[in-house]
Amino acid sequence: MSPDADPTTKIALDAPIVQLAGVGSQIGARFAYLGLRTVGDLLNHLPIRYEIEVAEAAVTEAKEATELAEASVTRTVRGEIQKVRHVPSRRPRIEAILADESGTIRLIWFNAPWLMKRIHPGIRGIAKGRAKLRGGYLEMVNPVWESLAEDDQIPTRSGRLRPIYSASEELPTARIEKVMASVLNPALASVVDLIRPEILARRGLVSLRDAYRMVHAPHDAIEAERGRMRLAYDELLCLQLAMEMRRWQVRHSMSAPALVLTRAIEEKILARIPFALTQSQQQVCKEISTDLANTIPMNRLLQGDVGSGKTAVAVHAMLTAIAHGHQAVLLAPTEILAEQHLRTVEEMLQGSRVRVAGMTGSLRTADRAIVLNGLASGDFDLAVGTHALLGDEVRFKSLALAIIDEQHRFGVEQRAALRAKGSTPNQVPHTLVMTATPIPRTLALSFFGDLDVSSLRGLLPGRTAPTTRVMPSNRAPEVYAWLKTRIDRGEQAFVVVPAIEESELGLKDVASHAKSLAEGPLHGCRIGQLHGQMKSSEGDRVMEEFRAGRIDVLVSTIIIEVGVDVPNATVMVIEHADRFGLAQLHQLRGRVGRGGKPGYCVLIGDAPSDIAQGRFDAIAKTTDGFEIAELDLKLRGPGEFFGARQSGLPPLHVADLTRDFSLLGEAKSDAQSWIGMSGDLTELRDLPLRRRVLGLYGAALGLSDIG
Ligand code: ADP
Ligand code: MG
Repeated sequence: MSPDADPTTKIALDAPIVQLAGVGSQIGARFAYLGLRTVGDLLNHLPIRYEIEVAEAAVTEAKEATELAEASVTRTVRGEIQKVRHVPSRRPRIEAILADESGTIRLIWFNAPWLMKRIHPGIRGIAKGRAKLRGGYLEMVNPVWESLAEDDQIPTRSGRLRPIYSASEELPTARIEKVMASVLNPALASVVDLIRPEILARRGLVSLRDAYRMVHAPHDAIEAERGRMRLAYDELLCLQLAMEMRRWQVRHSMSAPALVLTRAIEEKILARIPFALTQSQQQVCKEISTDLANTIPMNRLLQGDVGSGKTAVAVHAMLTAIAHGHQAVLLAPTEILAEQHLRTVEEMLQGSRVRVAGMTGSLRTADRAIVLNGLASGDFDLAVGTHALLGDEVRFKSLALAIIDEQHRFGVEQRAALRAKGSTPNQVPHTLVMTATPIPRTLALSFFGDLDVSSLRGLLPGRTAPTTRVMPSNRAPEVYAWLKTRIDRGEQAFVVVPAIEESELGLKDVASHAKSLAEGPLHGCRIGQLHGQMKSSEGDRVMEEFRAGRIDVLVSTIIIEVGVDVPNATVMVIEHADRFGLAQLHQLRGRVGRGGKPGYCVLIGDAPSDIAQGRFDAIAKTTDGFEIAELDLKLRGPGEFFGARQSGLPPLHVADLTRDFSLLGEAKSDAQSWIGMSGDLTELRDLPLRRRVLGLYGAALGLSDIG
């Protein structure tokens, strides 16, 4: 705290802003509009950036300095308006004379008639702008003007760092700064630090009071950053504590069947898989079977590029569960994928005693009843299907393993719904989530911190990564002419467009693009159409035609992004490629070249900016999905990145995952040792922190509040 703080005044953090001296209901409403109701809200309204203030100068000083510089120089002066006049010329302007003790300066504003109401003789204020001499007289054109009320205590500007707050038209940042300055010290007196001093010392972090003072009233940029770091640490620590609490509670209140992979079981399983597992697949299978052998429920994320062979890993795990007399379920996000998995699994298990049920939304009622009965009685060992399998009416005799594939939204709720399918409330299945969208390490650590992560890396034998080319839109005719030669050789292609229907945006849409290709460069080819608003049976039919080779070119929206496998497809053309995220583009190109023939991906698009160009360059050069994910995170920021949004967790406000990576690691390790020492934070001195963590993440993570 600064030395001039009055230790006797103290404002509670839950004190309403409206009740602060000088605020009142009107201003209070403007704060409320920004979501700021209490003093605590205000304290947590952190500056979005800082400006180095131009030190105030007396008018004569400003004049001398300007004479010396022989150029216009930014100055700040403070004084009283003596005269104002409106000059209605071709360029209407307002001219005012401002005076301080030392002299006068002319202020001129062009095109600012609204200022007439605010500026009148007798009013005091601060003007900041470029000062220059005209005819020996000092003037400023279009200066920034801040009116001062009689009782305004704004200190003389001395070149300090000024916080800039996110504000509104009615409540400018300067006003927020003023109110903040008036409550900062008394509010800081109420701030309680929940982090133990040993930890702060070890991490070189300042106290919470100092941190708030440093962000709102920093002496310099280093202080501002030190303050921010401390607040970011708190945010990350709470998130990590929540994740660790979640792990702790799962470990201590739930259990899953122990499924040991014996040599005999392993041999039987491997005999069912029609190829030798790669080293990476073996490694992941080992990580999974180690988890499965335990009664602590597995909670694992398997990430691996499109075509990296995740399905075989899933089958390996499911057969382990079935070998122990339990059931397993494989969930896919779409009907198409569910059908594809069902076919794969049935093929592998042909002639075995494993009984497989398929469950999709389009199942006929009678078949559905058979599946439901069979799962409940244990007649079926394995169920493959869509989210229809998450419904309340679906019961299992003894579900030991649930696998969710290609799930873009594998939020905590879904994992919870699956857990509820265990045989008793505390007996839950092991869970494995598989994704082809690699999650950057930072995001995995922060938003999926309650999961263990396995990764499949490298290409399968015989595979080469598709060749990627970027082409400007005016060269699209060449692309399609080349595409025609591939079709003529009997290969197949995807053409992805961003829109389903024609719109004003001028984006290519499925129907018109298919038509123009059919009438133009791809004349004579069999062209199919697919998009997300088609009935699912219709979509399935088109996909089936494509797979069977009765369609040469499939014009589609992004819907084909998820795991569809068409071995004969070799070309992926993406129109308006600049509209897709890097991870999406990478997924799309993973669709082609899966059958041994080399794959090609052509990105058609015009890079509107350097960033877009950088993205294009990156995707053309890089074939590793993990690298692309890290890049995407860097270029787009975590806010837009799928992991953050899709995790179902509240967003981070202070921490910046691209910048605070090492802080995240520290917070994680501190949270681990903290939870390791005091379980789920039920020690007396941890209770306030526990309340905070539960308040932030309890609902989203399903943390229970039983001590
Ligand atoms: P994804 O990770 O995208 O789900 P899949 O599991 O669908 O990938 O595998 C892609 C293709 O590679 C499938 O046709 C599968 O049969 C094949 N495959 C998987 N693992 C191997 C392997 N070890 N050797 C040869 N082919 C494999
Ligand atoms: Mg797959």
